Amino acid sequence: MKPAVLPDFSLLLAGRVMCFFLCLPFLILFQLKAVQLSSNLEVIAIAEVKFDSDLPEFRTSGGANSSSTKHEVFVQPVMWVKAIDIVLDRLVMQGADLSTVLAIGGSAQQHGSLYWSRHGVKTLRNLNSDKFLHVQIDDSAFTVNRTPIWMDGSTEKQCVEMETAIGGRAEMLNISGSKCYARFTGPQIRKIYQERSNAYEETQRISLVSSFCASVFLGDIAPIDYGDASERFGFSPECIVTAFTGDNLSALSGMVLEQNCLVMSLGTSDTLIMNLKEQPRLEEGHVLCHPTEIGHFVGLMCFRNGSLVRDLFNKIEASSDWNKFNELLDSTPRGNYGNMALHFHSIEIIPNVKGVLRWTRNNSSENSETAKGVQKFLSPQTEIRALIEGQMLHKRAVASDMGFHFGDETKIVATGGASVNKSILQVISDVFNAPVFVQNESEAALFGAAYRAKYAIYLNSLVDVSRICHENNNVQHTATTGPLSYLDYITRFIPNHLRIVCEPSKDCEQIYSPMVERYRKMALILAKK
Ligand code: ADP
Repeated sequence: MKPAVLPDFSLLLAGRVMCFFLCLPFLILFQLKAVQLSSNLEVIAIAEVKFDSDLPEFRTSGGANSSSTKHEVFVQPVMWVKAIDIVLDRLVMQGADLSTVLAIGGSAQQHGSLYWSRHGVKTLRNLNSDKFLHVQIDDSAFTVNRTPIWMDGSTEKQCVEMETAIGGRAEMLNISGSKCYARFTGPQIRKIYQERSNAYEETQRISLVSSFCASVFLGDIAPIDYGDASERFGFSPECIVTAFTGDNLSALSGMVLEQNCLVMSLGTSDTLIMNLKEQPRLEEGHVLCHPTEIGHFVGLMCFRNGSLVRDLFNKIEASSDWNKFNELLDSTPRGNYGNMALHFHSIEIIPNVKGVLRWTRNNSSENSETAKGVQKFLSPQTEIRALIEGQMLHKRAVASDMGFHFGDETKIVATGGASVNKSILQVISDVFNAPVFVQNESEAALFGAAYRAKYAIYLNSLVDVSRICHENNNVQHTATTGPLSYLDYITRFIPNHLRIVCEPSKDCEQIYSPMVERYRKMALILAKK
């Protein structure tokens, strides 16, 4: 028996008026949240369960357990089952009537795998609606009770083996859109196969965290009988369970973005997320199928030297006061009189270099002496502007290398902790020569799953109309009424979900275009060091 990773799945049915969704977010791994929305996408009820405080018996810290050695980070899967029980109860206490739910969507952390035992699969198919889920889906439902999650870093060996077996890293990237990372599910499964062969052999099916959650609602691992989805909480048998997806993709769905938007997440780590029409050829970063645009890709690139370096400068140059930091940043002109800096304090992903380089207007790559740069700039103002401009020039270069097309229609959508900082956002707007927007709704991953469920209801209603037209021989109707795109459909309900916060200055392209080229030269110098 060979276990297989299940893809996400969806069931589409016609129905009534409400949709509902729940999610296990990826970075804020410590909680499970659920929201019920009306057919107009207004919030009816919202509830959450914090793993550390609401489920102390699992002894998690930040929603995870870790071993003191071996870089293993895991959870006991029953904790998630218990959390689903609690969050649904809390939703009902908030006034949700789950029997009216038309469709369920969801998202969960991108990586993480659950190993169902034969008994577990059988239990899932025979859930008793009178009992709590966690009483039925207990430890015996899984062959592995230390489920590896996205923070696990214990499979470097398996990554090397898999890349070697497939013909090298470039080939892995070519086939899968990403090189092999320790947290990814493939090497995690291989590790279980190698180190716990008995558990592997006894495993009936393997779920991702997202498809695991969907399975609990379906009452089966595969969508063979959606009627089984009706369980303890009184969901209708006709309720649709849409594909539960990874939280990055769910967040992208929740932002409901036009194709020309570049998302800049400025949280604990900086990340660029972009719509790509073609797959880029880069050694790093991730390329995924777009969650709402058929045939498009999502490019995702993380940066190691983002907020941590900004935090450090805020501490050293502005006594940890962001207002002071901003005063210093705002007191220097665009272009910083030719002073530029790259701060790769830890080894960066792209370019794969470590080091710091400061250039004044007199430095260049002309010879080794002029390329060296200076040890320090003369003022904290210059230091801060050089840092922020350098970080954003770096991101602009990487985004265009990944294949993002900049043009008059480009919009930047900023999210995460630093997106409240208008001075930093103005630098972004100028460096990218594009307006910067923020979202009105902060829980993008949560709402993204609900919007996808709503869109599934819409698509399904079209299938029904099309079938009726076909049955009545109204072929013309079926030929002329194609479905609205996800964007067009969802923005009907939430037309003002983005708010503009900064616009580019008139002279910015003139200033920053040459600086992108200068950034590239500086990065090359650092790479040679
Ligand atoms: P997470 O990614 O863990 O959800 P957040 O999105 O809350 O974290 O982002 C945390 C980061 O936000 C901090 O590291 C800090 O650098 C940054 N941050 C918070 N407030 C500001 C601010 N006013 N200006 C700049 N950066 C800020």
